Amino acid sequence: MVRILLSNDDGISSEGLHTHYESVRPLGEVIVVAPDREQSAAGHSLSLHRPLRINARGDDWYAVDGTPTDCVNLALNGFLKDRPPDIVLSGINKGGNLGDDITYSGTVAAAMEATLIGYPAVALSLVYEEGEPFRFELAGQFARRIAEEVLNRGLTKGILLNVNVPNIQAGECRGVRVTKQGKRIYGDAIVEKIDPRGREYYWIGGNGLNWVRETNTDFDAVANRSISVTPVRLDLTDFDSMDELRRWKFL
Ligand code: MN
Repeated sequence: MVRILLSNDDGISSEGLHTHYESVRPLGEVIVVAPDREQSAAGHSLSLHRPLRINARGDDWYAVDGTPTDCVNLALNGFLKDRPPDIVLSGINKGGNLGDDITYSGTVAAAMEATLIGYPAVALSLVYEEGEPFRFELAGQFARRIAEEVLNRGLTKGILLNVNVPNIQAGECRGVRVTKQGKRIYGDAIVEKIDPRGREYYWIGGNGLNWVRETNTDFDAVANRSISVTPVRLDLTDFDSMDELRRWKFL
């Protein structure tokens, strides 16, 4: 019997999580361990300075008052230790996790945590633009397909799959592309204003819809109505720079 651990960063009540659950449930036993509230952009943060609490929310549904990383860590190293999953899935996130943004992403961080602990993992995100209705059908269909492929074929140790699905009808999808991580161009990334008491305040995250035009990127695939699958390596070492650095005078 296949066992799946499912988490996310939008919180346990998120529509994307429930769609993901329904989609992969026919594959086996699914255990949900997710944050009790939204934790988007939590990155790969772990709560070390306070206790964490787990609340059962039905059969094999658990809400944790922590980050996505906390959820996966607690589950794999703690209370699900004697029920290890065959695969860890994260999402479906309401919003893309493309290019450099994956370093901020709680959705991808949940998959990273699983990868670090030694489990195959997939992060899934729905790429939508502000004001559009969420269309989860295609992402739900693909969630099951990619999970089946990983379960059948396995994944190289230290590699996770970052999947981004365009927010289109299933019939409009042009296919699946294996892509590389693209690069976003931040426009007016910081909004600077004056509050009602006359003090300046700043808001991070303005216009960031542009990206470096390059084919084979995750951005390009989604813009062309295709599903993007990016293999992401957690070893961040740049091996090409090592020889150059060894020539530096450090002492
Ligand atoms: Mn999110």
